[in-house]
Amino acid sequence: MVGNDKVGRNVKREEPKQRKQDVLESTRFIIKKALDRLGYPEEVYELMKEPLRMMTVRIPVRMDDGSIKIFTGYRAQHNDAVGPTKGGVRFHPDVSELEVKALSIWMSLKAGIVDLPYGGGKGGIVCDPREMSFPELERLSRGYVRAISQIVGPTKDIPAPDVFTNSQIMAWMMDEYSRMKEFDSPGFITGKPIVLGGSHGRESATAKGVTICIREAAKKKGINLEGARIVIQGFGNAGSFLAKFMHDAGAKVVGISDVYGGLHDPEGLDIDYLLDRRDSFGTVTKLFKNTIPNHELLELDCDILVPAAIENQITEENANKIKAEIIVEAANGPTTIEATEVLNERGILLVPDVLASSGGVTVSYFEWVQNNQGFYWTEEEVEERLEKVMVSAFENIYKVASQRGVDMRLAAYMVGVRKMAEASRFRGWI
Ligand code: GLU
Repeated sequence: MVGNDKVGRNVKREEPKQRKQDVLESTRFIIKKALDRLGYPEEVYELMKEPLRMMTVRIPVRMDDGSIKIFTGYRAQHNDAVGPTKGGVRFHPDVSELEVKALSIWMSLKAGIVDLPYGGGKGGIVCDPREMSFPELERLSRGYVRAISQIVGPTKDIPAPDVFTNSQIMAWMMDEYSRMKEFDSPGFITGKPIVLGGSHGRESATAKGVTICIREAAKKKGINLEGARIVIQGFGNAGSFLAKFMHDAGAKVVGISDVYGGLHDPEGLDIDYLLDRRDSFGTVTKLFKNTIPNHELLELDCDILVPAAIENQITEENANKIKAEIIVEAANGPTTIEATEVLNERGILLVPDVLASSGGVTVSYFEWVQNNQGFYWTEEEVEERLEKVMVSAFENIYKVASQRGVDMRLAAYMVGVRKMAEASRFRGWI
């Protein structure tokens, strides 16, 4: 397909479907490698390469102009051996069955890495929320819950926010579920507004987790965060909170970007100003004349690079041009397998997505625990617990990587699959 890419360059690009297939294939490839290293037989891989359950739904929604539009949605439940499945719901025009499958597998890995009593799940609706009104979004969110209500629930599968979904959408979904079941069910979904049983610190949790990984990785590399130059690709939930945390920690955020392009200032960008001007979909660069394309942003001179946007951004083509010493993946799947190899050879420390972005699901777990207990924690309590979970997950994976002589991605997959495999074995599935 030839067309304008997200930054407006006229380029040839792959069909999204092909990209999604690649993402699923590479995930399977690393899972196989991890299971082989751990000595598990073939049937364990057979069990893990696909979600156990995949539901496709069609959701009729009355639009504001009176017409009816039918939306396609998915919910994938990868593996529930450890516990109920857990994972976000994405609203995006590029959502596909393949992507939702891959994302559900990643959720299983994340749960294993931060040791939560969950398996992985994921949902998505093919839609463009940027072009929908609030009432249309509400009807779509409620319709989705009605369509998947049979397979979800506080002890079955617990949704959460993901790309282009937020606490308001979680609130509508929780309300719809509670109405259907005729009892208040805050534990049905996480990422809710605080007044509806949401947890302190959930909104910024993914970025907090990434921040902790950056700090730990910087220690390993002997980089002082104070004054370190950092580039962040993506200014959505993770990217924008991260820019703030890094700025507050004394690092210099020298580059940021959104889907339309990037901003660069070697002296450090005015993060508070940018946060103030950003819209709810994470766009801000449209307001500026001097922008750089996203591919240039990745190659900027910096110490730490954080891809916090979409899949397949660091590839064989640009891996050699990256100048950062540390890459921390806040997005899901931003680096291809081939690029990971190049980065490894170049001695760049890469903290993989399944570890770096697991702060979100960790605080979702805290939210669910609070809902189940009906007893709520302070922001400090949440932060303290998140800190402990992330530091120990980072240390564990760093240790497995050094002991086994593998990179942090393979180490993370090895840790991620282990509990799932053991639980499946005890249940007599394999
Ligand atoms: N969507 C987030 C993720 O990909 C969070 C999932 C959750 O909180 O359950 O990790």
